[in-house]
Amino acid sequence: MPHTTGVRKRKVAVLGATGPVGQRFISLLAGHPWFELAALTTSERNVGKRYADAVHWLGGPDVPEAAADMRLESTRADLDVEICFSALPPDAATEWESSLAKTGHHVFSNDKTHRMDDDVPLIIAEVNPEHANALEFQRRNRGWKGSIVTNGNCTAITLALAVAPLHRAFGIERLMVTTMQSLSGAGYPGVPSLDALDNVVPYIGGEEEKVETETQKFLGTWDGARFAPATFEISASCNRVMVRDGHTESVSVSLRGRPSVAAVIDAMSAFRGRPQELRLPTAPERPVVVRAERDRPQPARDRDTGAGMSVVVGRIREDPVLGVKFTALGHNTIRGAAGASVLNAELLAAEGCLGA
Ligand code: NAP
Repeated sequence: MPHTTGVRKRKVAVLGATGPVGQRFISLLAGHPWFELAALTTSERNVGKRYADAVHWLGGPDVPEAAADMRLESTRADLDVEICFSALPPDAATEWESSLAKTGHHVFSNDKTHRMDDDVPLIIAEVNPEHANALEFQRRNRGWKGSIVTNGNCTAITLALAVAPLHRAFGIERLMVTTMQSLSGAGYPGVPSLDALDNVVPYIGGEEEKVETETQKFLGTWDGARFAPATFEISASCNRVMVRDGHTESVSVSLRGRPSVAAVIDAMSAFRGRPQELRLPTAPERPVVVRAERDRPQPARDRDTGAGMSVVVGRIREDPVLGVKFTALGHNTIRGAAGASVLNAELLAAEGCLGA
């Protein structure tokens, strides 16, 4: 049973509420036990419209009732909410996220702008919750009343969750990953149909660098004054494929002590984090689900595992070059974006990092 008693409800906004990530936020926050949807923001073209009339809804037959009749607002620094879940595109995120933090809002961002900042934690709730200790430093350093916590890139989150149990149990020496990323990862309308159909596009601008640097930040440490990234070598090759949702990743990894495949399976299967200990409302029972079938995970079958919050791993086997290889799959707009932000906010609320 999720932990729901004794928690004060906080008013929240979704910034960029009409895009695919914004829509996932709406689905996750409608009826949330700790958070109350109080504002939805949009670009100027939709300000004042009813949400259900403005949005091109991708999340099933109907827009959730909690949001359908809400009026879209412009993004501004005096929004009357405590928490802002940001699904803003880069320009708008750069313009608004720090202003909102300055005026006392706790911003949970999906944008890349602040991810690698020296005083901004990049958190996966199960992997590096202790990086939230950087918030005290951030507030002092920037003179903010609020804060910014960022999510990683959707591909980096899936990878970091899959390898975190191995880094914790053995230590990673080297890692190579090749990705097959879904179309929804490019936003809406995203990749033109004539480029996507019958095709694989072997380039996603900036993606490989993000996967490499963010994975090292996730798996690194916060020493009270700075983030020290993990130092293992990592190389990513990223491809866009004709899949609607769910990023698939082929990973080869070299681990200290050369553990057996059975030991790798045990470490991944046993992995749990603070969200599971605290029974947070959006925490999956198992953050990493290991499948034994020879042809899994597959996006169409496995992306909704744990309501889209579990990373599914399969085909764990020996790799003649690096030692171990496997396939990992994560739902990019849930575990890789909105769901990860909501879980981060639940974690920080439960740990008392967002004020009483
Ligand atoms: P998107 O398709 O570009 O949607 C963002 C929405 O923000 C737009 O549809 C736009 O809608 C709205 N917007 C623009 N300016 C705004 C402003 N000033 N105030 C409020 N809303 C504004 O992007 P997305 O795929 O939903 O992703 C959102 C963010 O998450 C991006 O930073 C992206 O890089 C990141 N991300 C995406 C994924 C993924 O899988 N898609 C995963 C991880 C992270 P209107 O014009 O209708 O207002």
